[in-house]
Amino acid sequence: MTINGHTKITGIFGDPIGHTLSPAMQNAAFKAVGLNAVYVPFHVKADDPAVLKAAVEGLRAMRFLGVNVTIPHKERVLRYLDEIYPHAADIGAVNTIVNRDGRLFGYNTDGTGYLLSLRDETGLRIARKKIVIIGAGGAARGIFYAMLGMKPSSIVLVNRTIRRANTLAKAFEARFSSTDIRTSALQRGALIEHLSNADLVVNTTSIGMMGKGELDIPVEALPPKAIVSDIVYRPSKTGLLKAAEKRRLKTHGGLGMLVRQGAIGFELWTGMKAPVSVMTGAALKALKHR
Ligand code: NAP
Repeated sequence: MTINGHTKITGIFGDPIGHTLSPAMQNAAFKAVGLNAVYVPFHVKADDPAVLKAAVEGLRAMRFLGVNVTIPHKERVLRYLDEIYPHAADIGAVNTIVNRDGRLFGYNTDGTGYLLSLRDETGLRIARKKIVIIGAGGAARGIFYAMLGMKPSSIVLVNRTIRRANTLAKAFEARFSSTDIRTSALQRGALIEHLSNADLVVNTTSIGMMGKGELDIPVEALPPKAIVSDIVYRPSKTGLLKAAEKRRLKTHGGLGMLVRQGAIGFELWTGMKAPVSVMTGAALKALKHR
C-alpha cells in the first residue's frame, strides 16, 4: 500500500478498538479493487462526550470518505450528523457514516448485513417464517428491524431482562402488524415451547463469545429443518453452533454478518462493488491471528 497525497481515508471509531477485524477486511478490499484508500482504527474515548463530537467534526475537516462507528458510540453519534437514513433513525443507532461534500449521513448496515449473510450461507428467506431471537441489545434491535421488513410470520424476543425485550417489541409492533411479535424470559421451559415450531433461532447476546460462558439453549426442541444462527464470531463456532451441528441442524456463524455490513459500507463510501470473498478471506485470516 502506498500512501500519498491522493489517499482517501476511512476508518472506525470505537472504545475499545484493539480487537477490530475491520481494518484487515477493508484494506484488503481497497487493494483488491485498486483503490488508493486506507482504513484506520481510531480509539475515540467514551469518557468525555466532547471527544466523539470532535472526532466527527474531524471527518468533515479532513475530508474522510466516512467511517464505521462501533460500541459504545453507535447511539450517541446520531446527534452530530446532518442526515440520518430512516432505518438508522428507527433503530436509533448508526454504524456507518458517509461524508458527501462535507455533509455527514448516518446509516445502519448491521441488520441488512445479517440478512444478506443468512440468505447467502443458508438460503433462508425470512418471509412467513417463525423466528426466535435471543437477546434484546443493540445488535438484536438492528436484526429485529431488518427482519420485520421481510414480513416473517412471527418473532419471539427472548431476553434475560424481559423489560428490555418488551420495550423493543413495543417500539415496532404497531408499524409491522403483519408479524406476530411476542416476548419471553430466558427460561428453559419457555424456550422449549418457542423453539418447538421455529424455523430459525438466532443468538444476538454476547454469550458464547470467548471467555463469556455458553448459552443453554435446548436445541433438541427444534424441528429438524430449523436453522441455528449465532452472531458471535469469536470463536467462529460457538457452543450453541456445536450443539446444533451435533443434532445435524443447519448452522450460521457471525463472521458473514461482519463481512456483509462492512461490504455495504465499502459500497457506500466508494460507489464500487465490494469484493466480498476477498473481505471474507481477510477477516478469517485476521481472526486466526488473534
Ligand atoms: P448489547 O447491546 O450490550 O446487548 C447484549 C445482550 O446480551 C443483551 O440482550 C443482554 O441481556 C445479553 N446478555 C449479556 N450478558 C448476558 C448473560 N450473562 N446472560 C444472558 N444474557 C446476557 O450488545 P450488542 O451490541 O447487542 O452485541 C451483542 C453481541 O453481538 C456481541 O457479542 C457482539 O460482538 C456481537 N455482534 C456481532 C456482530 C457481527 O457482525 N457478527 C455485530 C454486532 C454485534 P440483558 O438485556 O438482560 O442485559
